[in-house]
Order: sequence, then C-alpha cells, then structure tokens
Amino acid sequence: REKQRLLVVANRLPVSATRKGESSWALELSAGGLVSALLGVRQFETRWIGWPGVNVQDDKGQKSLSSALEEKGFIPVFLDEETVDQYYNGYCNNVLWPLFHYIGLQQEDRLAATRSLQSQFSAYKRANRLFAEVVLSQYQDGDVVWCHDYHLMFLPKFLKEANSRMKLGWFLHTPFPSSEIYRTLPLRSELLKAVLTADLIGFHTYDYARHFVSACTRILGLEGTPEGVEDQGKLTRVAAFPIGIDSERFIKALETDMVRSHIQKLRGRFAGRKQVMLGVDRLDMIKGIPQKLLAFEKFLEESPEWQDKVLLVQIAVPTRTDVHEYQRLTSQVHEIVGRINGRFGTLGTVPIHHLDRSLEFHELCALYAITDVLLVTSLRDGMNLVSYEYVACQNTKKGVLILSEFAGAAQSLGAGAILINPWNISEVAASIEDALTMKEVERKERHRHNFMHVTTHTAQVWADTFVSELNDTIVEAELRT
Ligand code: UDP
Repeated sequence: REKQRLLVVANRLPVSATRKGESSWALELSAGGLVSALLGVRQFETRWIGWPGVNVQDDKGQKSLSSALEEKGFIPVFLDEETVDQYYNGYCNNVLWPLFHYIGLQQEDRLAATRSLQSQFSAYKRANRLFAEVVLSQYQDGDVVWCHDYHLMFLPKFLKEANSRMKLGWFLHTPFPSSEIYRTLPLRSELLKAVLTADLIGFHTYDYARHFVSACTRILGLEGTPEGVEDQGKLTRVAAFPIGIDSERFIKALETDMVRSHIQKLRGRFAGRKQVMLGVDRLDMIKGIPQKLLAFEKFLEESPEWQDKVLLVQIAVPTRTDVHEYQRLTSQVHEIVGRINGRFGTLGTVPIHHLDRSLEFHELCALYAITDVLLVTSLRDGMNLVSYEYVACQNTKKGVLILSEFAGAAQSLGAGAILINPWNISEVAASIEDALTMKEVERKERHRHNFMHVTTHTAQVWADTFVSELNDTIVEAELRT
C-alpha cells in the first residue's frame, strides 16, 4: 500500500534559492526543527508548498526553479514584490505579528497603519488564494493538508470551498492573544470564520487554545465545548500540541570534532570567568532583550563581587533590519550594553559580549554546551525553542535555565526552570544570583526534568500527534453524521 501523502503548507519553503544563470539555481536547505520534524513523520510522504523567498518574474526562471525544488519535494508559490510587501511585510508582520504578541504600537503608528489596513488585507487574501491554487493543483484524493501559521488563516476556507472533503489542519506557531486584544482587529470575524473551516486547529499551549475558543464565542457568538468550537452542529476540533525539537540532532552534534574543537576554543576565551551566562534571541521586541540587560545591570550593581567573575554572552540575530522600530530597538540595546560595559568593565574585562549576528550550527551548539546559565526573557513567545536546544546540550554541565513565564516553553519546562516575569527587574536579578550559586544537587534535579521532557516531546512526536489527531477527528466526524 502506498503511503498517505502529507501536504505541508507554510509561508516560506525551508530552503534558500540563489539564481546562478538563466535556468540554474543553487538551493540551500535550512535545517530547522520543523523541517526535521516533518521529514521524520515516516508514515507519510511529505510535500512542502510555500514561497521560495525570491522574486522570480520570468517564465524560464519560474520553470527552472520549480523543477529544481521538485527533486526535494518542494513546490513553490510565486509571489510578486507588491504582494510580498502588502501581504507579508504589511498584514502579517505589521498587523498580525504585533497583535498576537501583545505589542502595542504607538497611537500615531497605529493610526497610520489603520489607513493601509484594507489594501493589506486584500493582499493577504489574494496571497492566500495563490497558495490555495497551488495546493489544489497538487492535491490528490486522500491527502492530508496541514496549513501553518498566521500567514495562512484564509487558506483553510479557500481549500474547503473548492473541496469540502479535504482533510485539513491548521497550526499556529505564535501565541493566540486574549480575546480582549484580538477583538481590536478590524477584520476579526472574517479571519476567525476562515480558520474555523479547518477540521483541526492546533496551538502550542492550552492557554492559546482557550483564548482562541473565547474569541470565537465572544466575537462570533458560537459555542465553545471541551473539544473545540461548534457552529450549528459542526465541530471544529481545537487543541494544544506543544512543538519540540529534534533533540538527537543536537546531542549528536556535541560528539563531532567541529563542536568539540570549538568548545576548546571558547574555554580558552572564557578562562578567568567563574561563570558564563548565555542569551540567544532574534533581535525582536518580543524577546525582551533590554529588560534582560537591565536585570543583569541590577544584579551587577547589587553583587559587586561578581562584577569581574561573570560574563553574559548575548547573541542577537538581526531580523527585519529595514523596519524603523527594529532599528530603534537595535540602538537601544547597543546603548544599554555600552553603558553597562562602561560602568562595570575593567581594562581587561567587560561583563557583556554582545553579537549582532547569527551563528553557525556548530558555534551555537558549543555555546549551548559550555555556558552555565541560559537567560530567556521573552515578553511573549509562542514556544521558544532556544530553551529546548540549550537543555538538549547541557547533559554534561547541567546548567540552569532562567525562563520567562510568557514563553510557551514555561508550560512544559516549568518544573526544571527558574520561571521569571521579565518586567520585574529585581526578581530577574535575584534569579540570576540564585542560578549562579545553585548547588549541584538541585541543578542536576532540575536538568533531569527538562532533559527528560525535551528528549521525549520531540518535534517528530509533535508532528505525528497532530497528524494522527487530524485523521481521528475526521473519522469521528464521519461517525457523527
Ligand atoms: N538560531 C539560528 N542561528 C543563530 C541563533 C539561533 O538558526 O545564530 C535558531 C535556533 O537554533 C532556534 C531558532 O533560531 O532554532 C529560534 O527559535 P525560537 O523558537 O527560540 O525563536 P523565534 O526566532 O522562532 O522567535
């Protein structure tokens, strides 16, 4: 019997494409948790559908890229520059992303954004329609279609309108905000109704799922049940499916020569510091990097004995560098780092090493493995996989995880981590002290909890669970009718 096919639809294909000639392309696979998770769902034959991340206008280019991608099981959705700007930069990143993460725009910015909302929303729908067309061109009877994230909230509707028997799931990778926040969105009902056409809707945590159900009951007047949302007898299943990582990939990497020699190099560089703390974040408002730095400053202020003994390594991966608010955040962070290093540095040492760049996988693993504390201060974060990756790499050292209660990961790693409210600078400063002075017995015990969780609740298990739940949901629906 042939394997059932799984069509994974996400805004972006997990690949970057560079054009080498009129019809030749170089492809580089981006190895993320999602990719290995879905390639690991072995009972399915997986196809990916998404935007390849490049603007290709000519026919020759589109054809040649399509066939290059085809070999990897990828199918491109081509979007023109105008659509990318309005749909992706506009509606997705300037409207939905901040709203879902409770980021308040300044009154003025919000007012200005309101004017372009309608045209961005149209582009959003148009883009979702283009995705639907490509999915329909690939779809065969019996396929399972899994739509991902806030970019594609209309996709379930367009697909079901074309084929009501399609097995369809939708998963949100960000938080879903409280209905009190969500209801300020001008086109709130249309979006909710569109996702509700899916058979199964998934979130990282129970709280996000509950917020979604409340939004449906309060805004649409539908009935919320323990299983999901009911509309005139038709049930849409809503549930929590916390994502994980490919923990084996990290554990194995630690055994490689590349990571080992990098660890040696870093050991030399950090010699003289009693302990090293780590932060790894995209340089985004949601990560609370300024809050983290202020808490570290407070800690140094209150514990002068640590001033030349502790180092904070902060990796800040640049993101959306063309956007004004992100530029403002970057200068704000630089200013705080400069101030703290100026205040507490000596001729030989500074308390913060701040890097505005991304790392190679082996560099990242080495840092995860040899640092003593990871500091995650997200103000809102769908899950936060960095905390999972750190735990996976800490089986030797058993370092301490300080984790924001506003990251989805706090629901799963809460037993082992020190949970903090990133807005409470004094509390975070005290937690830094606790982490740096924690006894080995306690570190081991906390790490054991976390490691057990991270290695059993993997990305693969996540994908498996979602897809089998989707299959079950459909069987149950058929039994009911
Ligand atoms: N990461 C990376 N390069 C870096 C630093 C981090 O590829 O230099 C990866 C990291 O391994 C993790 C992801 O970026 O898998 C960040 O995921 P997370 O869920 O923590 O936050 P997001 O950036 O998705 O909000």
